[in-house]
Amino acid sequence: MRGRAAALAFLLLLLLPMAGGAAPPEAPSLQVSGAVEQGALLRGTAPPGAVALTLDGEPLPLDPERRFLFGLDRDRTGTVLLVARLAGGGTLERRLDVRPRPWRIEHIAMARPAGGPTEAFLRLREGELARIAAARARDTGAKGWLQTFRWPAVGRISGRFGAQRVYRGQPAAFHAGVDIAAGAGATVVAPADAVVVLAGPPAFSLEGNLVVLDHGMGLNSAFLHLATSAVVVGQRVRQGQPIGTVGMSGRATGPHLHWAMRWREARIDPAPLAGPMPR
Ligand SMILES: [Zn+2]
Repeated sequence: MRGRAAALAFLLLLLLPMAGGAAPPEAPSLQVSGAVEQGALLRGTAPPGAVALTLDGEPLPLDPERRFLFGLDRDRTGTVLLVARLAGGGTLERRLDVRPRPWRIEHIAMARPAGGPTEAFLRLREGELARIAAARARDTGAKGWLQTFRWPAVGRISGRFGAQRVYRGQPAAFHAGVDIAAGAGATVVAPADAVVVLAGPPAFSLEGNLVVLDHGMGLNSAFLHLATSAVVVGQRVRQGQPIGTVGMSGRATGPHLHWAMRWREARIDPAPLAGPMPR
């Protein structure tokens, strides 16, 4: 009797959704959430039956729930093409137009500051950049990419992502992170779950004491100019866990935290991910 009652209840559950009037089954689609604009990070879900996904022809991994992630570089323009391959052999496409963002451009009516880097500095820098690139290339399988990010430090935002100076028509490198004017010694926390892939000292010439966190799926965060770091390479950190303190190591004019994010090679604006700065 028990089994029969359960079977009946199950049947009822199956029939219930139809009771409100038979809605047609929803067509499978590629769901993408987030603003499709320069510097954005977007999350999405592929429909049941999707076995593989590409972004502009490059493979884009799906997690077991068919969720995926991709970033749009600060200078990305045009259209993004997502193509899902379905188990039955068919494909499903979605095109997204990338909205440009009005980056803050500051025109300076003088030539770029003179005095290029020395030969010795360029050699040192080459090694440093190689170390950073090798750390960023590591895929640790961290799951932080699925979380809502929080601010790694609290303070006034003193420098926005994407801002750029142009010296008499010669553009300088744009600001590839967000600056938080937290006081010297303020705690820096992990904005999402991650695995530490780089942790200084020793300090880098420009970045100073640098911590890089891998959030999984090609997404990583870098924290520059730290006074101290509280983590070691390979360590798993939870969202909100202290990873270091604010300082002004490397090339910095005062204590602040520079937080930079990348998805693969795309330079991402961290601010929209973390939402409004808490007071
Ligand atoms: Zn900065």
